[in-house]
Amino acid sequence: MSEIPEIPGTPREQLACAFRWLARLDLHEATANHCSLATAEGGERFLINPAGRHFAELRASDLLEVEARGGERPAGLDPTAWAIHGAMHRQGREVGCILHTHSLYATALACLEAPELPPVEQNAMRFFERMVVDHGFDGMGLGDEAERLGRLAGEAPILLLGNHGVLATGADVAEAFDNLYYFERACRSYLVARASGLPLAPVAPEVARKTAAQWDDYAWAGAPQAHFAALMRLLDKEGDDYRN
Ligand SMILES: [Zn+2]
Ligand SMILES: [Zn+2]
Repeated sequence: MSEIPEIPGTPREQLACAFRWLARLDLHEATANHCSLATAEGGERFLINPAGRHFAELRASDLLEVEARGGERPAGLDPTAWAIHGAMHRQGREVGCILHTHSLYATALACLEAPELPPVEQNAMRFFERMVVDHGFDGMGLGDEAERLGRLAGEAPILLLGNHGVLATGADVAEAFDNLYYFERACRSYLVARASGLPLAPVAPEVARKTAAQWDDYAWAGAPQAHFAALMRLLDKEGDDYRN
């Protein structure tokens, strides 16, 4: 793993900040959806939100810390959260954080027969050849379904869940949040442009590939961590209780 710049706060505070901002940006859905952050090498242990709590009210101390190979589902944890996030963390990839939402534009893309994100603007190019689509929706993801999703995601930062929603991953919470944020924006621009009914103007694959590599340069320079640190500062300035 390349050296990633530090973001302030404890893992609990960082994940709580992510929940608050997902709610503020309307990327959440009711009290459903889940986000998890590994707290041990290889994803053996991770933090995740308890069932039935709104993202806007979650504080650092509310988060559950669970064992990825713990067998029984911990009390207070949603069954699909346990199945999918547990399976993905267990696979021990270099994925520290998994954000799972049903955000509007990503989910709208997941409703299409052929959910693709052509390189029509630079946010979309960030995900050029970096989005994996799961076409195997078969009810709410449990058991084998979860293991399959984990394997399918591979190294891709975005796993679009057909007929369902999206999973964004990253080495840390800042990277995962930045991926989800930009993916939602990219889907929004694309779907709005497509809804105009006018012809789209995708760039050539080599331009899209070059632009994706330029996004990597931003990431290596710490842009996702700077974004996330700013989000924490904004909550702190308001006296928000997410760190409690
Ligand atoms: Zn879901
Ligand atoms: Zn989930």
